[in-house]
Amino acid sequence: MEEFARKARSRQKLGNPPTAGRLEESFSKSGSFQTPKGVHDILPADHEYHTFIKKVIRHRCRQAGFRRISTPIFEFTELFKRSIGDGSDIVSKEMYTFEDKKGRSLTLKPESTAGVARSYIQNNMQALPQPVLLYYFEPHFRYDRPQKGRYRQFWQFGFEIIGENDPALDAQLIQLVRKIHEDLGIDGLFSLQLNTIGTPEARKNYMSVLEDYYAGKERSLCENCKERLHKNVLRLLDCKEEDCRILSELAPAMRDYLDQESIEFHEELKEYLDEIGISYVENPKLVRGLDYYTKTVFEFWDKEEGAQNAVGGGGRYDGLIELLGGHATPAVGYAGGIERLIANMKREKIRVPSKDELHVFVAQLGKEAKKKCLKLIDDLREAGLKTMGALGKGSVNIQLRLADKFNAPYTVLIGLTEVREGTAIIRDMKKGIQEHVKMEKVPERLVKLIGEKNLDKYSPGELLYS
Ligand code: AMP
Repeated sequence: MEEFARKARSRQKLGNPPTAGRLEESFSKSGSFQTPKGVHDILPADHEYHTFIKKVIRHRCRQAGFRRISTPIFEFTELFKRSIGDGSDIVSKEMYTFEDKKGRSLTLKPESTAGVARSYIQNNMQALPQPVLLYYFEPHFRYDRPQKGRYRQFWQFGFEIIGENDPALDAQLIQLVRKIHEDLGIDGLFSLQLNTIGTPEARKNYMSVLEDYYAGKERSLCENCKERLHKNVLRLLDCKEEDCRILSELAPAMRDYLDQESIEFHEELKEYLDEIGISYVENPKLVRGLDYYTKTVFEFWDKEEGAQNAVGGGGRYDGLIELLGGHATPAVGYAGGIERLIANMKREKIRVPSKDELHVFVAQLGKEAKKKCLKLIDDLREAGLKTMGALGKGSVNIQLRLADKFNAPYTVLIGLTEVREGTAIIRDMKKGIQEHVKMEKVPERLVKLIGEKNLDKYSPGELLYS
């Protein structure tokens, strides 16, 4: 492998074409393969957080009547262009787009709302009782500059309420997010930023006012905003660069150009939020930057770091389903980042219960003992004991050291004598004491030692046959 890496490096030095240069990135300094920039493995310790968060989301969603949906990892590129908008950062810079063998343009999903909306139409969900309540927990892909909390493959969970147009639903969606943050122990870290960006007509009108305002001021804008000026002028309002910020402070306010219907909708939403005791910060500069939003937009910001490390955001997208070829169907949704939830939990020193710890380690000596072990290990697992066996050829001492390393509180030892006598030794690893038990009684004895309530007896539920 080192040789391969060395060749790749020297090829790059010789100024070979891009593939050779890129090949270099696939190796670590020591010459072994590594992941591409911005993506990472989810190792077992982080999976404990993933699993816990997923369970919380599933529980809260079930309670509220949401059902899970997964859309494909890739879709036609046009779907994202049409829904998110050409002027958005996502479509203009961040999509992983490729051609398949027949020349179709496909894109790894950068977000899920477009796919869920497509699925709603394609699967005729308008025929279901409305609103349709869906949630997802999926990987997403954006070619963004990798940094803390910003990756090229990241996980998002999200909800969509499709088929009804009422601010009470927006309030309920926000409440659901709050409940999940509460369950994860991090609710106090975020502030809810709230705004309305009106109907598309009102927004179009406001955008032309904004373009007029910025005309002649281009030189004071950052490079990003210069680019956005004619593609997505609303985004100039939430730029963090000093000069852009000063200009945006002085810009005409969106509120003055909003339509009556949107203002009333927003006022009603705030009443509902007040009613359920959810505080919010009115943020007239919050725009979200995706074309499909209408009226309500909101984000959960870190109270200290602001927008930089938002944990999630959402809003209403009343025009999207129609834009994608369906009947006019109002909807509201939310998406939150799993990596950022985990980072916040760790920052708060919150650990999640680990279900991975072993109960029993089974050690054996000799071929006959190993045969007995295979049956015993199965019996122990069936009894709800998390059991691992050392089925290699190491000495008993090596196996006991392994048992120690795996942190199992009990080890079962079977040697030649035990096979002959039909017994096994159960060793309490902490106390260092051991007892001889009849082979067939081993599961029962260990269940007693571990305790019924600690057993891992997960059952996915009864199968039903039609
Ligand atoms: P957005 O719809 O772009 O606001 O994304 C919703 C949430 O997903 C954000 O608030 C983040 O928590 C998360 N997120 C978005 N992009 C990334 C990324 N590149 N890496 C990690 N998390 C992300």
